[in-house]
Amino acid sequence: MNTAVQTRGWFIGGKERHADATYPVNNPYTNQPLAYVAEGSKEMMREAIEEAHKAFQIVKKMTKRQRAQILFEAAALIELEKEEAAQIICLEACKPIKAARGEVERTIQTLQFSGEEAKRLDGEYLSLDAAAGGEGRDAYTIFEPIGVVAAITPFNFPLNLTIHKVGPAIAAGNTIVIKPAEQTPLSSLYLADVLTRAGLPEGAIAVVPGEGPPLGEVMLEDERVKKISFTGSPRVGKLLKNQAGLKKMTLELGSNSAMYVDKSVTDMEGVADKAVQGAFSYNGQVCLSTQRIYVHNEAAPAFKKAFVEGTKKLQFGAPDSESTDVSSLINKNSIDRILSWIEEASSAGAEVLTGGQAEANGVLPTVLGNVPPETKVSCQEVFGPVVLINEVKDENEALEAMNDSVFGLNAGVFTNDLKQALHMAHELEVGQVLVNDVPTLRFDHMPYGGVKQSGYGREGVKYAIREMSELKMISLNFS
Ligand code: NAD
Repeated sequence: MNTAVQTRGWFIGGKERHADATYPVNNPYTNQPLAYVAEGSKEMMREAIEEAHKAFQIVKKMTKRQRAQILFEAAALIELEKEEAAQIICLEACKPIKAARGEVERTIQTLQFSGEEAKRLDGEYLSLDAAAGGEGRDAYTIFEPIGVVAAITPFNFPLNLTIHKVGPAIAAGNTIVIKPAEQTPLSSLYLADVLTRAGLPEGAIAVVPGEGPPLGEVMLEDERVKKISFTGSPRVGKLLKNQAGLKKMTLELGSNSAMYVDKSVTDMEGVADKAVQGAFSYNGQVCLSTQRIYVHNEAAPAFKKAFVEGTKKLQFGAPDSESTDVSSLINKNSIDRILSWIEEASSAGAEVLTGGQAEANGVLPTVLGNVPPETKVSCQEVFGPVVLINEVKDENEALEAMNDSVFGLNAGVFTNDLKQALHMAHELEVGQVLVNDVPTLRFDHMPYGGVKQSGYGREGVKYAIREMSELKMISLNFS
């Protein structure tokens, strides 16, 4: 990647436009600026929506095959440029390069799924004579595009979470305006450029970096925006939902995901390895990070030993080093908050099994034992490298603890007992249950979303496309 400090603009009407007012995007590990990016204004956001609305008149008339071809072409372009794309994520999000490469692979796949789903966006046939008075009529349904989709995205998966909105929007025949996280606008600017090179009409994708409240306000007010697709914190999600009126809305929010390890598990080291990855990948700055682990007390000694040993092996370092597993956090505020939460738990009686200190703009991977449920590290979203391991006497105690949360995104259950797996899968109050996997797992075509304060609506390419479409019914009377 070009390491010179770049000056970047807004992406509107098919090209990047520069501005006098800029803000720095820093590498969180070095604190050095990577780029100065145009600070989005309300006026620019209005213009982006205007251009996207104009482009919608073209995109909605494109065939499904044409839309699919653009999505496949964008995937092919990223495939050719994947190391460059990974470097962008690595430096702006401070994501270890190995994980950044993984995110790029997923982005390519999400685009391919979007192209495939664009081709099979079909409704269904209905026989209306199932209803009294419906004799002599048949009906069918079609999915119609809705118009301009507004995407507001977080910093943690700046490429793949953005494409989870862009791919489905285009597949459905819509256009899209993106307000990326302040810390990570470069990935979105890259995506807009790739899609334009892949043949998306000018204006059909816009990126307006900058602060959330003023830009979000324009998105909420403008009648031409038909849907808000938000991924981020529950605080902002609730705020947007209260103001969205009749606009469609999807909210992908936070969690304090839990998993259970039963005594029937035979490969305790293998499970502990997966759990270490689940708890500390990208430093726990993942919405479905494994934050709470409940272990059957007969399995606890072996699991804890393997888990703590695995944690101690993680290498802390610069994000662009091949050997780095964990690096700096996105900002200094997170460090102070996380350390104070660890301190609160330890004052309440929790044991610090490893970690618990700051390190180079980050916090060392921290494992806590016997954590009281009312502490913040248990009942709030840490969004950092802290995991708790508590012992339970059976699956029912595990279920009670796992469901004792205001969140409900993913949950994991490790067991060799099928009846127990099914019992827990049905009782867990979450959007997705992963049996014999950690909760920190998402395949890009699966339905994905939360219950309780973890979200509203579903993403996952096929499901997002439907939430970005209007279902229309057409009835034929041949009586
Ligand atoms: P955040 O809520 O602080 O910011 C997300 C986006 O919202 C940013 O673009 C920000 O600028 C914007 N924003 C802030 N205030 C706004 C306002 N008033 N109006 C409009 N936009 C506004 O979240 P973050 O720190 O970037 O990301 C971390 C959060 O995201 C965590 O809670 C995490 O769990 C959640 N998350 C959820 C998922 C999921 O799929 N469920 C995925 C990733 C992250």
